Amino acid sequence: MSNKINWGKVEFCSSYGMFSQIPEHTRTEVAFSGRSNVGKSSLINKMLNRKSLARVSSKPGKTITVNFFAVGWSKKDSTPSARGIYAVDLPGYGYAKTPKSEKERFGELTEMYLKSGRVGLVVQLIDFRHPPTVDDITMLGFLKASGIPFVVALTKADKLRKKQRDERRALLVNEIEYDDITIIEFSSETGEGVLELRKAIEKAVLPNTELNLEEPV
Ligand code: GDP
Repeated sequence: MSNKINWGKVEFCSSYGMFSQIPEHTRTEVAFSGRSNVGKSSLINKMLNRKSLARVSSKPGKTITVNFFAVGWSKKDSTPSARGIYAVDLPGYGYAKTPKSEKERFGELTEMYLKSGRVGLVVQLIDFRHPPTVDDITMLGFLKASGIPFVVALTKADKLRKKQRDERRALLVNEIEYDDITIIEFSSETGEGVLELRKAIEKAVLPNTELNLEEPV
Protein backbone atom coordinates (compact mmCIF):
# COMPACT_ATOMS: atom_id res chain seq x y z
CA MET A 1 0.00 0.00 0.00
CA SER A 2 1.21 3.48 -0.83
CA ASN A 3 1.72 6.00 1.94
CA LYS A 4 0.55 8.82 -0.29
CA ILE A 5 -2.68 10.65 0.36
CA ASN A 6 -5.12 10.64 -2.55
CA TRP A 7 -5.30 14.42 -2.91
CA GLY A 8 -7.99 14.15 -5.57
CA LYS A 9 -10.49 12.70 -3.14
CA VAL A 10 -11.90 15.64 -1.23
CA GLU A 11 -15.19 16.60 0.36
CA PHE A 12 -16.50 19.26 2.68
CA CYS A 13 -17.57 17.85 6.06
CA SER A 14 -18.76 20.52 8.49
CA SER A 15 -18.29 23.99 9.93
CA TYR A 16 -18.25 24.70 13.65
CA GLY A 17 -18.57 28.00 15.47
CA MET A 18 -17.77 26.65 18.93
CA PHE A 19 -15.10 24.25 20.08
CA SER A 20 -17.61 22.18 22.06
CA GLN A 21 -19.46 21.36 18.81
CA ILE A 22 -16.47 19.64 17.20
CA PRO A 23 -16.83 15.86 17.49
CA GLU A 24 -14.02 13.42 18.25
CA HIS A 25 -12.25 12.24 15.10
CA THR A 26 -10.11 9.22 14.41
CA ARG A 27 -8.15 10.74 11.56
CA THR A 28 -5.27 13.17 11.79
CA GLU A 29 -6.22 16.82 11.56
CA VAL A 30 -4.02 19.27 9.65
CA ALA A 31 -4.95 22.87 10.44
CA PHE A 32 -4.35 25.94 8.28
CA SER A 33 -3.75 29.18 10.14
CA GLY A 34 -3.05 32.76 9.06
CA ARG A 35 -4.27 36.32 9.05
CA SER A 36 -7.26 37.35 6.95
CA ASN A 37 -6.40 37.82 3.30
CA VAL A 38 -3.05 35.99 3.56
CA GLY A 39 -4.24 33.58 0.84
CA LYS A 40 -5.39 30.69 3.02
CA SER A 41 -8.51 29.76 1.03
CA SER A 42 -6.53 30.00 -2.20
CA LEU A 43 -3.77 27.77 -0.80
CA ILE A 44 -6.25 25.14 0.39
CA ASN A 45 -8.04 25.15 -2.96
CA LYS A 46 -4.78 24.89 -4.89
CA MET A 47 -3.43 22.12 -2.66
CA LEU A 48 -6.66 20.17 -3.17
CA ASN A 49 -6.88 21.04 -6.86
CA ARG A 50 -10.33 22.57 -6.43
CA LYS A 51 -11.64 25.89 -7.71
CA SER A 52 -13.75 26.97 -4.76
CA LEU A 53 -13.90 24.41 -2.01
CA ALA A 54 -12.58 26.84 0.57
CA ARG A 55 -14.19 30.18 -0.08
CA VAL A 56 -11.89 32.88 -1.42
CA SER A 57 -13.30 35.79 0.48
CA SER A 58 -14.25 39.12 -0.97
CA LYS A 59 -14.81 40.43 2.55
CA PRO A 60 -11.93 39.37 4.78
CA GLY A 61 -12.74 38.00 8.17
CA LYS A 62 -16.44 37.55 7.64
CA THR A 63 -16.83 33.90 8.62
CA ILE A 64 -15.54 32.88 12.00
CA THR A 65 -15.89 29.14 11.88
CA VAL A 66 -13.59 26.14 11.79
CA ASN A 67 -14.20 24.22 8.56
CA PHE A 68 -13.40 20.52 8.15
CA PHE A 69 -12.66 18.78 4.83
CA ALA A 70 -12.09 15.05 4.30
CA VAL A 71 -8.99 14.56 2.16
CA GLY A 72 -7.95 11.19 0.72
CA TRP A 73 -11.03 9.40 1.99
CA SER A 74 -14.78 9.76 1.94
CA LYS A 75 -17.29 9.87 4.77
CA LYS A 76 -19.57 7.58 2.76
CA ASP A 77 -16.91 5.00 1.94
CA SER A 78 -14.48 5.10 4.81
CA THR A 79 -12.41 1.93 4.72
CA PRO A 80 -10.06 2.01 7.68
CA SER A 81 -7.04 1.43 5.44
CA ALA A 82 -7.73 4.45 3.21
CA ARG A 83 -5.04 7.02 3.93
CA GLY A 84 -6.48 10.36 4.68
CA ILE A 85 -6.69 13.41 6.87
CA TYR A 86 -9.01 16.17 7.87
CA ALA A 87 -7.89 19.49 6.42
CA VAL A 88 -9.06 22.09 8.92
CA ASP A 89 -9.52 25.69 7.81
CA LEU A 90 -9.14 27.92 10.88
CA PRO A 91 -10.63 31.42 10.89
CA GLY A 92 -8.33 34.16 9.57
CA TYR A 93 -7.15 36.53 12.28
CA GLY A 94 -6.13 40.18 12.44
CA TYR A 95 -8.93 41.80 10.49
CA ALA A 96 -9.33 45.24 12.08
CA LYS A 97 -13.04 45.61 11.36
CA THR A 98 -14.07 42.35 13.01
CA PRO A 99 -16.30 43.24 16.01
CA LYS A 100 -14.65 42.75 19.42
CA SER A 101 -17.11 40.04 20.45
CA GLU A 102 -16.29 38.04 17.31
CA LYS A 103 -12.55 38.47 17.93
CA GLU A 104 -13.00 37.04 21.40
CA ARG A 105 -14.98 34.12 20.05
CA PHE A 106 -12.31 33.59 17.40
CA GLY A 107 -9.54 33.63 20.00
CA GLU A 108 -11.32 31.16 22.22
CA LEU A 109 -12.30 28.82 19.39
CA THR A 110 -8.82 28.74 17.86
CA GLU A 111 -6.96 28.48 21.13
CA MET A 112 -9.15 25.71 22.51
CA TYR A 113 -8.94 23.82 19.26
CA LEU A 114 -5.15 24.08 18.97
CA LYS A 115 -4.62 23.29 22.65
CA SER A 116 -6.86 20.23 22.50
CA GLY A 117 -4.00 17.98 21.40
CA ARG A 118 -5.91 16.70 18.38
CA VAL A 119 -3.93 18.56 15.71
CA GLY A 120 -1.22 16.58 13.91
CA LEU A 121 0.25 19.51 12.02
CA VAL A 122 -0.38 23.23 11.60
CA VAL A 123 0.40 24.94 8.31
CA GLN A 124 1.06 28.53 9.38
CA LEU A 125 0.68 30.98 6.50
CA ILE A 126 2.69 34.19 6.25
CA ASP A 127 2.60 36.67 3.36
CA PHE A 128 5.99 36.34 1.65
CA ARG A 129 5.96 40.01 0.67
CA HIS A 130 5.83 41.47 4.17
CA PRO A 131 7.41 40.96 7.58
CA PRO A 132 5.28 38.70 9.77
CA THR A 133 2.61 40.66 11.69
CA VAL A 134 2.58 40.82 15.49
CA ASP A 135 -0.25 38.26 15.40
CA ASP A 136 1.82 35.97 13.14
CA ILE A 137 4.71 36.11 15.61
CA THR A 138 2.34 35.46 18.52
CA MET A 139 0.91 32.44 16.70
CA LEU A 140 4.38 31.03 15.95
CA GLY A 141 5.38 31.48 19.58
CA PHE A 142 2.20 29.78 20.72
CA LEU A 143 2.76 26.81 18.39
CA LYS A 144 6.35 26.46 19.50
CA ALA A 145 5.50 26.75 23.21
CA SER A 146 2.64 24.25 22.86
CA GLY A 147 4.82 21.71 21.07
CA ILE A 148 2.44 21.55 18.11
CA PRO A 149 4.27 20.45 14.94
CA PHE A 150 4.07 23.13 12.27
CA VAL A 151 5.44 24.24 8.93
CA VAL A 152 5.39 27.77 7.51
CA ALA A 153 3.98 28.50 4.06
CA LEU A 154 5.03 31.82 2.52
CA THR A 155 2.12 32.89 0.34
CA LYS A 156 1.80 34.95 -2.85
CA ALA A 157 5.35 34.06 -3.92
CA ASP A 158 4.49 34.95 -7.54
CA LYS A 159 4.18 38.60 -6.52
CA LEU A 160 7.90 38.89 -5.74
CA ARG A 161 10.86 39.08 -8.10
CA LYS A 162 13.87 36.90 -7.40
CA LYS A 163 15.84 39.72 -5.76
CA GLN A 164 12.91 40.64 -3.51
CA ARG A 165 12.52 37.01 -2.55
CA ASP A 166 16.18 36.74 -1.60
CA GLU A 167 15.85 39.87 0.53
CA ARG A 168 12.70 38.70 2.31
CA ARG A 169 14.17 35.24 2.90
CA ALA A 170 17.29 36.73 4.51
CA LEU A 171 15.25 39.05 6.76
CA LEU A 172 12.80 36.33 7.76
CA VAL A 173 15.50 34.33 9.52
CA ASN A 174 15.74 37.10 12.14
CA GLU A 175 12.08 38.05 12.10
CA ILE A 176 10.81 34.65 13.10
CA GLU A 177 13.82 33.77 15.27
CA TYR A 178 13.65 30.05 14.75
CA ASP A 179 16.12 28.27 12.51
CA ASP A 180 14.67 24.77 12.51
CA ILE A 181 11.39 25.43 10.75
CA THR A 182 10.30 23.92 7.44
CA ILE A 183 9.46 26.85 5.17
CA ILE A 184 7.57 26.35 1.93
CA GLU A 185 7.40 29.09 -0.68
CA PHE A 186 3.93 28.96 -2.19
CA SER A 187 1.85 30.50 -4.95
CA SER A 188 -1.73 29.65 -5.68
CA GLU A 189 -1.32 31.47 -9.00
CA THR A 190 1.50 29.30 -10.35
CA GLY A 191 1.16 26.18 -8.21
CA GLU A 192 4.66 26.61 -6.82
CA GLY A 193 5.02 24.77 -3.53
CA VAL A 194 1.98 22.50 -3.92
CA LEU A 195 3.95 19.28 -4.11
CA GLU A 196 6.30 20.35 -1.33
CA LEU A 197 3.34 21.20 0.91
CA ARG A 198 1.58 17.90 0.23
CA LYS A 199 4.82 16.04 0.94
CA ALA A 200 5.36 17.90 4.22
CA ILE A 201 1.83 16.95 5.29
CA GLU A 202 2.28 13.31 4.28
CA LYS A 203 5.59 13.17 6.14
CA ALA A 204 4.12 14.69 9.28
CA VAL A 205 0.96 12.62 9.47
CA LEU A 206 2.07 9.30 8.04
CA PRO A 207 5.46 8.79 9.61
CA ASN A 208 5.65 5.00 9.86
CA THR A 209 4.76 3.63 6.48
CA GLU A 210 6.33 1.05 4.25
CA LEU A 211 7.37 3.63 1.72
CA ASN A 212 9.30 5.64 4.28
CA LEU A 213 11.17 2.52 5.30
CA GLU A 214 12.08 1.79 1.70
CA GLU A 215 13.29 5.29 1.00
CA PRO A 216 16.95 5.99 1.82
CA VAL A 217 17.24 8.63 4.51
P1 GDP B 1 -7.79 34.28 2.91
O1 GDP B 1 -8.60 35.43 3.45
O2 GDP B 1 -6.53 34.06 3.70
O3 GDP B 1 -8.57 33.02 2.72
O4 GDP B 1 -7.24 34.75 1.48
P2 GDP B 1 -7.82 34.45 0.03
O5 GDP B 1 -7.42 33.10 -0.43
O6 GDP B 1 -9.27 34.83 0.02
O7 GDP B 1 -6.95 35.48 -0.84
C1 GDP B 1 -6.98 36.87 -0.61
C2 GDP B 1 -6.65 37.59 -1.92
O8 GDP B 1 -5.30 37.31 -2.30
C3 GDP B 1 -7.53 37.17 -3.09
O9 GDP B 1 -7.78 38.30 -3.88
C4 GDP B 1 -6.66 36.16 -3.83
O10 GDP B 1 -6.96 36.10 -5.21
C5 GDP B 1 -5.27 36.71 -3.59
N1 GDP B 1 -4.25 35.63 -3.57
C6 GDP B 1 -4.25 34.55 -2.76
N2 GDP B 1 -3.17 33.77 -2.99
C7 GDP B 1 -2.48 34.35 -4.00
C8 GDP B 1 -1.26 34.02 -4.70
O11 GDP B 1 -0.59 33.00 -4.42
N3 GDP B 1 -0.85 34.87 -5.67
C9 GDP B 1 -1.54 36.01 -5.97
N4 GDP B 1 -1.05 36.79 -6.94
N5 GDP B 1 -2.69 36.36 -5.35
C10 GDP B 1 -3.16 35.54 -4.37
